[in-house]
Amino acid sequence: MNPLAAPRCALAIGAHPDDIEFGAGGTLARWSAAGTEVHLLVLTDGSKGTWDAADDLDRLVATRVDEARAAATTLARATVHFGGFVDGELESGAATRRVVCATIRTVRPDVVLGHDPWQRYRLHPDHRHAGWATVDGIVAARDPHFFPGLGGVHHRPDALLLFEADEPNHTEPIDTTIDAKIDALLCHRSQWRSTMDVDAGASDVDAEIARFRERVTAAARTDDGHLVERYRLLTEL
Ligand SMILES: [Zn+2]
Repeated sequence: MNPLAAPRCALAIGAHPDDIEFGAGGTLARWSAAGTEVHLLVLTDGSKGTWDAADDLDRLVATRVDEARAAATTLARATVHFGGFVDGELESGAATRRVVCATIRTVRPDVVLGHDPWQRYRLHPDHRHAGWATVDGIVAARDPHFFPGLGGVHHRPDALLLFEADEPNHTEPIDTTIDAKIDALLCHRSQWRSTMDVDAGASDVDAEIARFRERVTAAARTDDGHLVERYRLLTEL
């Protein structure tokens, strides 16, 4: 299946501040270079993103906002919207769906990207709920009678790309933007240890980062040596 044409506007929705870069960073970087207006909606505050039981969580949340903005700029000169829901407690009910609906009606994306809610055996509840909120929020945003009083004109995107897809049926090339993806991921320094297995206190941090680069690159590599991000593409929205 051919890659999508770079859209006028794209909205990517993630549960946590680094999820979008992992799932769709290379695609968003390539589209941004082609002129796409990129928006990121981060649904939770990232306040569970530490293995340190004594961590100051208010400070962690503030740090993760800064990291998310830096990553978005590095990736795609993107605007970040924060849902502000508590990390680990995300629900795909009306409150979350309303935020997704409002963001879609405001940003008016041609393409929406998000977690695949149908991915089997997924443990983290926020990723499941973020996926459902994305799918359900699209349905609400496209119909004028959902969320009366919310405001904004209803809007129907052309395509939905689900990352971490249970059954991928589409790829986007990231040969030219793998470095931008990894550089954006590394902006999330608070997550180096817990999510990226990068030890910032190691004697040779450059080697730790080099290994992380190789892991991310290897995960993107196809049998014929190209680098891609894999998705489930839905166009019947
Ligand atoms: Zn996550």
